[in-house]
Amino acid sequence: MTSPCRSLKGIAAAPGLAAGPAAVWCEESLSIPRRTGSDPLTENHRLDQARKAVGEEIAELRRKVANEAGEAEAAIFDAHGMFLIDTSLLQRTSQELERGLNAEAAWMDAIEHFAGQLASLPDPTLSARAADVRDVGQRVLRTLLGRSALPGLALKKPSVIVARDLAPSQTVSLEKRLVLAFCTAEGGPTSHTAILSRALGLPAVVGLGRDILEVAEGATLLVDGDRGEAILEPDERSLQAFNERGRQARQKAEAEQARASEPAVTRDGHRVEIVANVGSSADAETALACGAEGIGLLRTEFLYLDRQVAPSEAEQGFAYDSILDIMGQRPVVVRTLDAGGDKSLPYLDLGHEANPFLGWRAIRMCLDRPDFFKTQLRALLRSGAGHDLRIMFPMVSTLEEVRKAKVLLAEAQSEAQAAGHPVAEGVQVGIMVEVPSVAVLADLFAREVDFFSIGTNDLTQYTMAAERTNDRVAHLSDALHPAVLRQIQHVINAGHAAGIWVGVCGELAGDPEGVPVLLGLGLEEFSMAPPLIPRAKAVLRRWTLTEARQLAEEALKLDTARGVRELVQARQPS
Ligand code: PEP
Ligand code: MG
Repeated sequence: MTSPCRSLKGIAAAPGLAAGPAAVWCEESLSIPRRTGSDPLTENHRLDQARKAVGEEIAELRRKVANEAGEAEAAIFDAHGMFLIDTSLLQRTSQELERGLNAEAAWMDAIEHFAGQLASLPDPTLSARAADVRDVGQRVLRTLLGRSALPGLALKKPSVIVARDLAPSQTVSLEKRLVLAFCTAEGGPTSHTAILSRALGLPAVVGLGRDILEVAEGATLLVDGDRGEAILEPDERSLQAFNERGRQARQKAEAEQARASEPAVTRDGHRVEIVANVGSSADAETALACGAEGIGLLRTEFLYLDRQVAPSEAEQGFAYDSILDIMGQRPVVVRTLDAGGDKSLPYLDLGHEANPFLGWRAIRMCLDRPDFFKTQLRALLRSGAGHDLRIMFPMVSTLEEVRKAKVLLAEAQSEAQAAGHPVAEGVQVGIMVEVPSVAVLADLFAREVDFFSIGTNDLTQYTMAAERTNDRVAHLSDALHPAVLRQIQHVINAGHAAGIWVGVCGELAGDPEGVPVLLGLGLEEFSMAPPLIPRAKAVLRRWTLTEARQLAEEALKLDTARGVRELVQARQPS
């Protein structure tokens, strides 16, 4: 039993506050028959049938998630489909079947082997995929055992879902209108519970430890997705204080949303551009609803991930058309493929690298594969005809890379025109500033491009030498660190001296404490996840440019990120 009003600390995985009765998702353990001397042909046939049925189930789930959460989130299920036909998994299962093992046991052993390998990988994003393999594995097992669906959690009233960890298919099988929040014992910020709850707009705290599983069914739980806290069995006073905070937060969010489509103008009349980071056409629709004035970062990886062959020019064109059509004449900054790092593509043979974030990724890889790269460039130039298309190259670290990329862009344009296609005209060409070498030489780079978009996520990672997916060094990764801020200042000044515009598309652009500092440094374009737009606009409207300039000037003299955050809080305009 839990003692009254106990607070558990976890990881803030999706923002927001929620209070309600706990619905505890208990796992049903399947008992798996293990027989030797089975007929391999019969067992293989049973397994094939089960995999086929599960393939159809997964396709259905994919459709559901695409509707409820968006294309990028639905892509999780493409990976699930791939596990079903994974050759190494199937080979291992076949070997066991050949030895006379029954289908359930052979499949289970192969899944556990595969999931165990993934779980032991040092990269948390990859190791988190073990949960996906087990999710698919369980589905096939249930089908083999004649239990056609995963046991659902039948919710009767709005509830806070409590579980050890949630597989994506479990998360989406819930009736969304009855889910108030998620609390899980395991999982990190990149777990699927975290990703899906952010997309669904539901608060979530993950990694709360096993104590959360002791909460009694129906007991009241307070979930603080902003601070990463769950309060069990709150007393009357905590409940009231929490409800009051929730009420104020809702009121504030509603007021911000009501003005979301108005421009972001400071109190002294200075206007800045607020645009969105998107990864699909569903995101582009959301961006407009949230008040985006364009797209500041279209991450094109969604077209390339979770598949066995590269997308063709036509296939890419179809996807770019749909996004550009949604955005009409608004500016759309498309980032060329940023693969590598933590995003691997099976068909590109990226190979094993000891330090993938310092390796053969993004523009480095694209320049080494000109034909592959030009397929994307031609598709973009063709789709951009009649739109305000802007192209930017990720992970640039040298001037030679920019020059080579521009040559390939010119070739792609000639090739598309020679094939008789209309292409975009006057396309602005820019680079992401993510590597300190570019920030330091920003004055030289500024002569060769039309804009800079500062990727503060990677710029911080490379400046602080702190891998962005490693929780243990997360405390070093604050983009408000003066070492990063001074580079941002230098990049903005160098850009302006050369007459080009400068934006930020890393997380700092949507961080309420980062926004006034960036304003004061002279930034003109802020690009962020769509749901952050109404709040960022509200923050900008509270400041004058003069106040923000003073703030930035003081921030640049400080020596810690914490110091900068405290300064911003202390200087809030009344
Ligand atoms: C960045 O590095 O700040 C950025 C926006 O790119 P990504 O997060 O996709 O690496
Ligand atoms: Mg980046």
